[in-house]
Amino acid sequence: MHLRFSDEDEQFRVELLAWLEEHPPPIQEERDDPPHSSADKRPWAVQWQRTLFDAGYLVPGWPPEHGGRNANAVQQMIYFEELERRKIRRTTNPQGLSIVTPSLLDFGTPEQVEQLALPTLRAEISWCLGMSEPNAGSDLAGLSTRAVQDGDRFIVNGQKVWTSGAQDADWCMCFVRTTPLDQAPKHKGISVLAIPMSTPGIEYRPIAELTGPDYADTNEVFLTDVEVPVENLVGALNDGWRLAGGSLAHERAMLWINYAYDQKDTLEQLIAQAKERGTTDRGRDLIATAAIDEQALLALGYRGFAKFQKGQASPEHSILKLFGSEALQRTLLLGAEELGADGIDLDILAPSIWRSGSWAQQYLRSFAATIPGGTSEIQRNIIAERVLGLPRS
Ligand SMILES: Cc1cc2nc3c(=O)[nH]c(=O)nc-3n(C[C@H](O)[C@H](O)[C@H](O)COP(=O)(O)OP(=O)(O)OC[C@H]3O[C@@H](n4cnc5c(N)ncnc54)[C@H](O)[C@@H]3O)c2cc1C
Repeated sequence: MHLRFSDEDEQFRVELLAWLEEHPPPIQEERDDPPHSSADKRPWAVQWQRTLFDAGYLVPGWPPEHGGRNANAVQQMIYFEELERRKIRRTTNPQGLSIVTPSLLDFGTPEQVEQLALPTLRAEISWCLGMSEPNAGSDLAGLSTRAVQDGDRFIVNGQKVWTSGAQDADWCMCFVRTTPLDQAPKHKGISVLAIPMSTPGIEYRPIAELTGPDYADTNEVFLTDVEVPVENLVGALNDGWRLAGGSLAHERAMLWINYAYDQKDTLEQLIAQAKERGTTDRGRDLIATAAIDEQALLALGYRGFAKFQKGQASPEHSILKLFGSEALQRTLLLGAEELGADGIDLDILAPSIWRSGSWAQQYLRSFAATIPGGTSEIQRNIIAERVLGLPRS
């Protein structure tokens, strides 16, 4: 049994940390000039992403021409752990980097790779992801935004919702229905179009967040007779469902590292607060539970990763999103409760996991992690049916 990394993998860590020393991430710039949405290209963010790209540290597992250095899976895990430990963001357009780019590389034409994927990696363009609709969220296959081919273009009509960063994005990776529901099973009539957000007929309406009406990342997006050239079709016609599965899988692979380190940071703050202000027997119990959750998350993550490395099925990954997002939510709620009436004082700040704010604000924001990419209820269904083999009700 090996409980340590190989010399080669440790050397990767040494080189990464030395590089980070020489190229300090723009932490202060981010504080001074925060992005207004998840597709907002602030100058410091563009420069930092470009620096990572040029050094092969943007997506280390990919080849150098795609911003990587052909790092093996263990080295990629080391990379994500070291970045997360230091709360270093690679990009301010996570859906562009982690969902759209892998999809374009996997399914796009050589022209799309050249004209869309590479500029995204170099932070020259940003993306939003148009999947959800008012009547198609968990049941994405039910989407109804329609694209009708008319010669060398598609005409798109419909509405998207919860589209993160639509107000700042240059492009939208938009899931559309190309075969009507009465002519094909619903999974088989979906296609994907890359649509410039400046195209006439696109309007968006930001949805203010619960924790502050001055900040909105998600939007309603309305598409009226939007003309899209046929060469903007990503993947084959009516093959969008395969693309949806593939794109989201890229996003999920190493997400557990974020959950584990967010839980660790939050726990440290909670312990510091308890030492300073005191706590109750119940508080001590719950803080200990949060500490056990943190260890369980790490252990489960490593175990799933080890199985994945050996080519075995790793049901741990189905559990980690649910457990990680809910454990963090419980810990943030505990932080607010521990303060008693002060818990609703917005000036008593909690650890900054996403943006600054009080424990109560961070708790409310934590719901964002339990919904996208499969809600907690959907995750429970997946665990029950696919991991435990329970019958459908
Ligand atoms: C912060 C944030 C950012 C987002 N960003 C994007 C984005 O950029 N692009 C995009 O396309 N979408 C985005 N979304 C939307 C997200 O993908 C959807 O909210 C999610 O898929 C759930 O869909 P819904 O909101 O329509 O809820 P619904 O699917 O209508 O679900 C409503 C409730 O019913 C439950 N439910 C539904 N079906 C079942 C079932 N079969 N069994 C048990 N319970 C069920 C759900 O768990 C939920 O509690 C974002 C959402 C959030 C919160």
